[in-house]
Amino acid sequence: MTTRKLLLLPGDGVGPETMNQMRKLIDWANREHAAGFEIEEGLVGGAAYDAHGASISEQDMAKALAADAVLFGAVGGPKWDDVAYEVRPEAGLLRLRKDLGLFANLRPAICYPALADSSSLRKEVVEGLDILIVRELTGGVYFGEPKEITDLGNGQKRAIDTQIYDTFEIERISSVAFELARTRTNRVCSMEKRNVMKSGVLWNEVVTATHAAGYKDVELTHMLADAGGMQLVRWPKQFDVIVTDNLFGDMLSDVAAMLTGSLGMLPSASLGAPDEATGSRRALYEPVHGSAPDIAGQGIANPIAMIASFAMCLRYSFDMVEPAGQVEEAIAAVLDAGKRTADIMSDGCEQLSTDAMGDAIVEQLTG
Ligand code: NAD
Repeated sequence: MTTRKLLLLPGDGVGPETMNQMRKLIDWANREHAAGFEIEEGLVGGAAYDAHGASISEQDMAKALAADAVLFGAVGGPKWDDVAYEVRPEAGLLRLRKDLGLFANLRPAICYPALADSSSLRKEVVEGLDILIVRELTGGVYFGEPKEITDLGNGQKRAIDTQIYDTFEIERISSVAFELARTRTNRVCSMEKRNVMKSGVLWNEVVTATHAAGYKDVELTHMLADAGGMQLVRWPKQFDVIVTDNLFGDMLSDVAAMLTGSLGMLPSASLGAPDEATGSRRALYEPVHGSAPDIAGQGIANPIAMIASFAMCLRYSFDMVEPAGQVEEAIAAVLDAGKRTADIMSDGCEQLSTDAMGDAIVEQLTG
């Protein structure tokens, strides 16, 4: 049987609680699909700081580099608000993204029919929504140098951030978007600001050339990122895959997230380049939400984002498309049956604890 190595990094706050539910799905995949998952565990964020004085230890970084996929809970919390900047909990996640070379961030925005009423938009605008935002994660204005605040000496200061993109960075992220579109409804919309930014001009040029060179079967459209934000709240179902840079992707994926209701529902994947020998990509899967310190330890967190992140792991790291679909259908069926955690509770539904929601999804899968 194939052996597949998973590294679990539960982290802080609700991270360990939601990851405990995801473990039930790993057991299910091993039992029902002979998945051969072997689990290693490590510490990240505040938990790693308390144990090692670092946001992730070198030993756990080595485990992440050796794993076939990393599953990450959440990091941070008030307990670590005053630790030094370099060892703050979030630094552990940034180190993982950097050292694993995770340049492509995939954020699906799926609106389960049972939750269409909890969106801030009208039901018909979001019901059945299924879009995927592909955000460039390791370049652009968050990383470009110079990045500084200088004192101008006249009572004024100057802040500089630098937006930089090289051709290869745009080629590889747009290739990921085109390939994913082929597994969906085959449409990509690229978003940038070519009207006011040179990086937008190059982005547009390179996406167009990458499309012409290898992905002519995929429908490609371009949109200015500000218009894209407007269209996302006007009629989001017009999109299939959206590809965009780090900064615009950060904002547009949060907009898309809120179309679907609660933060506790949203999974994500971050992928690196394919390995030359095996073709497999380094990958990290995590819920979009943080450590939710306001509800941590109460057994009420929604584990669906974490469980749906595991479904993404099955699909993107192991090509286990059918089991991934089964997990996603089980989530939809449990919601259809009126089972809810506190964050998505509505009248006439049954409120479940974190643990009971995990059990309900596994029961749905095993009949
Ligand atoms: P948050 O996502 O932790 O919480 C925002 C709100 O959503 C809270 O009211 C919370 O209770 C709720 N929520 C989040 N996840 C939920 C779940 N699974 N079920 C039910 N409700 C849920 O964001 P925040 O409050 O801005 O940040 C809290 C901490 O998390 C901070 O230290 C922040 O830096 C960190 N953070 C970490 C990550 C990460 O690990 N990737 C991401 C965002 C924030």
